[in-house]
Amino acid sequence: MQLIYEKSVPGRQAIQWDALDVPEVTLPAALCRHKAATLPELGELEVVRHFTHLSQRNVGIDDTFYPLGSCTMKYNPKIAEVCAAQPGLMNLHPHLSTSKVYEKNVQGAYELIFNLERELAEIAGFKAASLQPIAGAHGELVGTLLMAAYHKDHGNTHKDTIIVADSAHGTNPASAAMAGFKVVEVPSKENGLINLEAFKAAMGDHVAGIMMTCPNTHGLFETDIKEIAAICHGYDALLYYDGANLNAILGQCRPGDLGFDVMHYNLHKTFATPHGMGGPGCGPVGVGERLTKYLPGPRVVRDGDGFTLQTPEKSIGRIAPFFGNFLIAVRAYAYLLFYGDEGLREVSRMAVLNANYIHARLKQVYKPAFKERFMHECVFSATPQAEKGVRALDIAKMLLDYGFHAPTVYFPLTVKECLMIEPTETESKETLDAFCDAMLDIAKRIETEPEVFAAAPSTTPVGRLDEVAAAKDLNCACL
Ligand SMILES: *Cc1c(COP(=O)(O)O)cnc(C)c1O
Repeated sequence: MQLIYEKSVPGRQAIQWDALDVPEVTLPAALCRHKAATLPELGELEVVRHFTHLSQRNVGIDDTFYPLGSCTMKYNPKIAEVCAAQPGLMNLHPHLSTSKVYEKNVQGAYELIFNLERELAEIAGFKAASLQPIAGAHGELVGTLLMAAYHKDHGNTHKDTIIVADSAHGTNPASAAMAGFKVVEVPSKENGLINLEAFKAAMGDHVAGIMMTCPNTHGLFETDIKEIAAICHGYDALLYYDGANLNAILGQCRPGDLGFDVMHYNLHKTFATPHGMGGPGCGPVGVGERLTKYLPGPRVVRDGDGFTLQTPEKSIGRIAPFFGNFLIAVRAYAYLLFYGDEGLREVSRMAVLNANYIHARLKQVYKPAFKERFMHECVFSATPQAEKGVRALDIAKMLLDYGFHAPTVYFPLTVKECLMIEPTETESKETLDAFCDAMLDIAKRIETEPEVFAAAPSTTPVGRLDEVAAAKDLNCACL
């Protein structure tokens, strides 16, 4: 495909300027370019075609099954887009919230923020939530800063350590470290669950809290969670819940009821905002009683019949401009109203059923990483295939030639040759079957023609990439 500059024809343009009908002025020399900018010169139609072709080379959930474990790539109902595109919401100027004079103009937006925060808190069994954080990892940072604020306020100056499970998302230890804590990793057992004995050994007065995911990134529900919570609280340590992926538990169980004190949600995974490649995101935090007074401010609060802003007495302060990514909140609110209570329960039931369906169809051929019951994602170890010279990465590349996005590979790090598959609730049985058929066909070809895998993918706009070079140089050559 030609670059847009290669299509440029000198003198061609997409617009025709009207004759000047205001007095001409001469700009100060300091504001003027000394050399004309190098811009492609094209007609409107060439520009439209160029960008349309580019967009068709992209892969997204709207055109392909995208079973990316720990990332919930599910269909985002278009009704949420329609709601976010309402001019009364989309065109609100953020500065309207900075002056009392304009407060009456933003009452609707405040009401939406107020209601959504309450609904998110309710879904997770918490007292309050804040929509300010603008990514999941940002929510983690805020959550760990809230933990730090709590301990500082309680004179717990000796508490300088956060325990993180070895199956945790890489952002967990990073966020804890950014909030100023030391990080201690606790291993999982053979069965994929946290090692309770190792956790007890790591626990002590110096521990400020623990960060856990449940179901964890092995796709398994942590059955010792209540005991872990009791032990933590015995030391006045707090429990952080990584709620980036809520698909397994919506309407089934609530982190607050399990004993967690703080969590983040990824509205851009579970609640109707498309995501990927770095944004945009919204990673609200939810908190229990212990942490409510430290929440970021200002917060939307009730004021008579309307709403106003207030900063909690011991707030950690502002952590994002205005109210975070407001239009993502609008999508999530639409999604929650659209599904309702029973609808959300059906989401989690179907998400778990679909993952277990894939597990059941593939388990004879791909080695399940664990024996426990999987929740919303199933994890395989392609070690038997790797022994024949075809690694998880090669399987992932070959899947692209079958028209599917690859699952997550090599994460979590605890599983060798890891293939982590999350189908989500929005896929039909036909799609799940087509994917499983492809995986089974691939397994057969590993037996008969393992050599073809080195050349995959061969049907995509770019072929096999040098992954290390491509991360730095987006325009690098294929292998
Ligand atoms: C995606 C994810 C995160 C981080 O979310 P971002 O919005 O990408 O920062 C954290 N934890 C888990 C388990 C995740 O899947």
